[in-house]
Amino acid sequence: MAWMFLQNEKSLLHKFLFKKFGAIRWEDNVKRGASTAWKLIKDGIEHLKPIVRWQINNGQSININADNWILDRSLNKGPTLCNIMDIDDKKVSFLMNDDGSWNSAKLTKLFSKDMVKIIRQMEKGTNNVEDKIELIHSNTGKTVSALSTEAIWFQKESKYTKYIWLKKLKLDQKVYLFWWRALNGALPMMEWLFYRRLANLKECPRDCHENENAEHELRRCGFNVPEFQNLEECTKVLEQNSGKGLMKIYAVAVFYSWKSRNLIKHGNAEIPLAYAVAEIISHSSHLQ
Ligand SMILES: [Zn+2]
Repeated sequence: MAWMFLQNEKSLLHKFLFKKFGAIRWEDNVKRGASTAWKLIKDGIEHLKPIVRWQINNGQSININADNWILDRSLNKGPTLCNIMDIDDKKVSFLMNDDGSWNSAKLTKLFSKDMVKIIRQMEKGTNNVEDKIELIHSNTGKTVSALSTEAIWFQKESKYTKYIWLKKLKLDQKVYLFWWRALNGALPMMEWLFYRRLANLKECPRDCHENENAEHELRRCGFNVPEFQNLEECTKVLEQNSGKGLMKIYAVAVFYSWKSRNLIKHGNAEIPLAYAVAEIISHSSHLQ
């Protein structure tokens, strides 16, 4: 229902509630004494949050920090690449010029180079139209409520219970961040980019002829670990043995495989095997 409400401004319900409460903003909390219909819609919005993002038009409805507008994450969740203090409470329109184009000076001041590139790549609508909400996964064929349940379950599971063991591996910051992002579905792999309409193909850039997702990247790409049936089993073994050096070597090796994969993706040669092995061993041993 919340989805219909937000999508269809001409609906009777929208007209009625809009008149009564004004435009609904993501950050609004349920007001005391609010009507049941309003509460229901706010509740619905909470469930939709993980699966929708903003399509930017004039940028005046979107909070830079709190809303999902870059890819599918809001900036104040998870590791961030920009200077949050400077943009607290500002709207996305703050980053634009009067004609609606991006203000390069502000972007480069506030965001890292990679982030600026991502922002510039995003589709942007027209300046004189209000921002709109759209589904993140545009072509999975799943219903809105199925997606929403799935996303909430995934968030709870991964944040609080699933990957605490990762810390025990005592990886260095870069390797840790790589694994954290990979296991939390936040690494820009081909399948991930495809569902966000940022790539045309889902296949691995290494010509493995498999879709590139966490399962592929962490277990099968570059080198296959035949002992494990699937990614779940693989992470289980990592968890159970997180104190052992061999696990650390594996974790670092996968990280180097990803680094090397990024080189191919951008048209360069892979990291030479002998060099990679030397790096992995020195990396794993000084961390013991
Ligand atoms: Zn591959």
